[in-house]
Amino acid sequence: MMKEHPPHAKPSEVRQSPGKSFLYALPMMLLTLMMLSGGKIPADPQRLFVLAVTYLFFNVLFFLMIHTGKTDRYRATAFITYAILFIVSFISHMFEARGSMSLSQEKIILCEVPFCHLVIPMTLIPAAFTKTIIFPGSITGGFASIASMFVIWIGASLSMGRGWCSWGCFFGGLDDAFSRILKKPLIRKIDPRWNYLPWAVLLAVVLTAAAFLSPTYCEWLCPFKTVTEFQAVTSFKILVQTIIFVSLFIALVIVLPLLTKRRIQCSLFCPFGAMQGLTNRINAFDVRIDPDSCINCKRCMTACPTFSVTEESIRTGRPLMSCMKCGTCVDVCPKGAASFHVRGTPVAVNRNIKRLLFLYAAFLFLAIFSGGTIQDGLSRIIRLITTGSMI
Ligand code: SF4
Ligand code: SF4
Repeated sequence: MMKEHPPHAKPSEVRQSPGKSFLYALPMMLLTLMMLSGGKIPADPQRLFVLAVTYLFFNVLFFLMIHTGKTDRYRATAFITYAILFIVSFISHMFEARGSMSLSQEKIILCEVPFCHLVIPMTLIPAAFTKTIIFPGSITGGFASIASMFVIWIGASLSMGRGWCSWGCFFGGLDDAFSRILKKPLIRKIDPRWNYLPWAVLLAVVLTAAAFLSPTYCEWLCPFKTVTEFQAVTSFKILVQTIIFVSLFIALVIVLPLLTKRRIQCSLFCPFGAMQGLTNRINAFDVRIDPDSCINCKRCMTACPTFSVTEESIRTGRPLMSCMKCGTCVDVCPKGAASFHVRGTPVAVNRNIKRLLFLYAAFLFLAIFSGGTIQDGLSRIIRLITTGSMI
């Protein structure tokens, strides 16, 4: 049997023994082996090496999550690695397909534009009225498949809600990485009214996309254009757009996360993230605070990188629906009062089993979604070292 938190024990005191941790991690080892290898062990030594490194990387992290009882540091290691290797892989693909990161008008007209999940909130109303996806990407397949991103989004929303933003989003790891660089925040006091900003961004983006039938956030506000693909600067309008993208990237993804130790872009400016908060309401897993163990020390409130724990949520035992299920509050709580939870079950019962269920859903999603990208990114880096080129 899995050890339970004794009343008022520190979670770190509830470590699983190496043998039990191995046993609990075994299904993950088998699932990731099947998923990463596609049922076939490659004969090429370099591909075999990349597969072995990726496999070990995931499974050592998962084992450590179970063995130590801590979640966030191991999650972040995988999540940030994914974000960095996504950029390596994406840019290499762009250079292979087009010879540069910039996007020509011709490629836009031909719909050869990669689709990302940030566009989803902008497509829903126009799709209902026009029966068309207002994005110049391919619907059916290939590198720019819109259909596959919708399927992944629905699956992830059902399995983890806004956990997507801490376990699946290939951009979130950048924000997460910069928010961890300093030991202590230089800006501590942040007005709670900023929590309304993501809803305002979401509303503005959805309405303007419906009015102009174009993905307005992608055209004008997406900071991640800076590190993925952007339109070739051929007019004053595109120059202004490019300056906005780069400025927002520097401010929201680098500087403010660094100064505040909060995920500013993800928490305050991402329309997809705000919409994903709504799916937290229909998802099986959430994070809860047990009022009987809580001593109101507010460590969870200070540590939450997404502004999701307020005094009110400590009182009611429920973080806000912006919670990204990163596990930070669960890890820092000195009394084991904050925990991963399965809806419809009593908060204080079987907390370790509920944590394990959540970790299986979230970590498996992370491994499935990122496995191919991590392997490709690693292969590109090896190619760069051995041949001087990533493509
Ligand atoms: S409430 Fe807890 S799990 Fe949710 S985002 Fe904040 S720290 Fe992470
Ligand atoms: S960290 Fe949060 S949940 Fe844990 S005891 Fe302190 S206030 Fe309560």
